[in-house]
Amino acid sequence: SFSNHDIIIVGAGFFGATIAERVANELGKRVLLIDRRHHIGGNAYSENDRETGIEVHKYGAHLFHTPNRVVWDYLNRFTQFTDYRHRVFSAHKGQVYAMPINLGTICQFFGRHFSPDEARALVAEQAAELNGREPQNLEEKAISLIGRPLYEAFIRGYTAKQWQTDPRELPESIITRLPVRYTFDNRYFNDPYEGLPVDGYTAIFERMLGNPLIETRLGTDYFDVKAQIPEGVPVVYTGPIDRYFDYRAGELKWRTVDFAQEVLSVGDFQGTAVMNYADEDVPYTRILEFRHFNPERNYQSEKTVIVKEFSRFATRADEPYYPIDTVEDKRTYLAYKTLAEQEKGVIFGGRLGTYRYLDMHQAIAAALKSFESEVRPALT
Ligand code: FAD
Ligand code: UDP
Repeated sequence: SFSNHDIIIVGAGFFGATIAERVANELGKRVLLIDRRHHIGGNAYSENDRETGIEVHKYGAHLFHTPNRVVWDYLNRFTQFTDYRHRVFSAHKGQVYAMPINLGTICQFFGRHFSPDEARALVAEQAAELNGREPQNLEEKAISLIGRPLYEAFIRGYTAKQWQTDPRELPESIITRLPVRYTFDNRYFNDPYEGLPVDGYTAIFERMLGNPLIETRLGTDYFDVKAQIPEGVPVVYTGPIDRYFDYRAGELKWRTVDFAQEVLSVGDFQGTAVMNYADEDVPYTRILEFRHFNPERNYQSEKTVIVKEFSRFATRADEPYYPIDTVEDKRTYLAYKTLAEQEKGVIFGGRLGTYRYLDMHQAIAAALKSFESEVRPALT
C-alpha cells in the first residue's frame, strides 16, 4: 500500500538515498523509497563478480572525490574510505601518456625536457590562434588551455567518440572538469578528499537505508504506481524530468554507454585501473580493469575483469548517463524547470531530475541542501 508513508522518494541513487536517510534519522518520519531497477545505489551500484570476486561498478567507474568537508564527513558515517588515488593513462599512436595533461605528458609528447615556464610559454604560443578571444565552446576552450597539438592528440578523437557531437557545439564545462598541470603531478583529481569505499559502494546504501522507518521497493516504476499515491503526500522525484511531464516540451538529449565486460585469464591486463584510448580508430573510449581500484584486497591472481566502454546517443529505452546540454537542450530544460516549479508537492532533484552532470559528492550536497530548504519544511 502507499498510504503509510510521510514521503515518497523516487530513485535510490545518492540523491534519493540521502533524502531518505535524513527524513528517517533526523525527522523520524516514514519513507517509501522506490526504484524501477532491482537494486539500490542508482548509478553508483557495484557488485562482486561471481567468477573472480572482483568488485565491479556496474554503471562505469565511480571514483569518490570531493572538496566539500561537509559531504566527506557525512559519507564517512556510512563507510570508511581506502587511500586510493585515481590516475589515468591515455594510449595514443602506440604510446602511453599520463592524463590529465601535465608536465610529464608535455615532455613525453614533444620529446624533450621542459621546465614549467618553458612548457607554459610553448602552450601559450600554440594557444595564440584564438587572438585573445574568449573561448566559446569545448574546442576553443581546450585550445586555450593546451594548444592545438595536444588537443588534437588527446582530446579531439576521444571527445569525438564520447560525444559524437561537433566539439564546437559542446559546452566548455565538459573540458574544464579536466585539470591541466605544469608539474609532474599526475593525479586525476585536485580534491583534498578522495578514496574508495572499503566495503564497496552498495554497502554505503545499505547503511544509509538501514532505518526501519525506510521501506524500499525495488522493481517499481513510479509511473505505474503514481495513481495509487494519496493526495498531499510529498514526492521527491529523481527520475528524468522530461519523462515526468510526458515529454511535452520535447526530449532532453543524453549520451549512454554500452559496457562490454570480459573475464580474462591473466593476472593483470593493463597494469592500471583506467586506460583511455585517444585515437578515433579504436572504437571504445576506455578500458577499465577493476582489480586495480582495490589493490588493498587480496584478489586471486589468475583472472581479471575488464570493461570496454562504447559511447552512443541514448534513446528513451536506454540508461541516460551524460546530459549533452547543447543550447537547444538548455532551452528545453528551462521549459521543464518552469513546469516543475508549478508542480505542487513534488521536489525534483538529482542528475536526471535537474538535467545536470553531477558527481556523487555534488548529488549528495544538493540533497543535503534540498532536505533543509524543501523537504524539512514540507514535513514539519
Ligand atoms: P542516479 O544514481 O541516476 O539515481 C536515479 C535513480 O532513479 C536510478 O536508480 C533510477 O533507476 C531511478 N529512477 C528513474 N526513473 C524512475 C522511475 N520512473 N521510477 C522509479 N525509479 C526511477 N560521480 C563521481 O563522483 N565520480 C565518478 O567517477 C563518476 N563516474 C560516473 C561514470 C558514469 C558512466 C556515470 C553515468 C556517472 C558517473 N558519476 C560519477 C556520477 C554519479 O553516478 C552521479 O553523481 C550519481 O549517480 C547521482 O545520483 P542521483 O541519485 O542523482 O542519480
Ligand atoms: N577527455 C578527453 N580525453 C581524455 C579524457 C577526457 O578528451 O583522455 C574529455 C572528453 O570530452 C570527456 C571530458 O574530457 O568527455 C571529461 O572527462 P572525464 O574523464 O571527466 O569524463 P567522465 O569520466 O565523466 O566520463
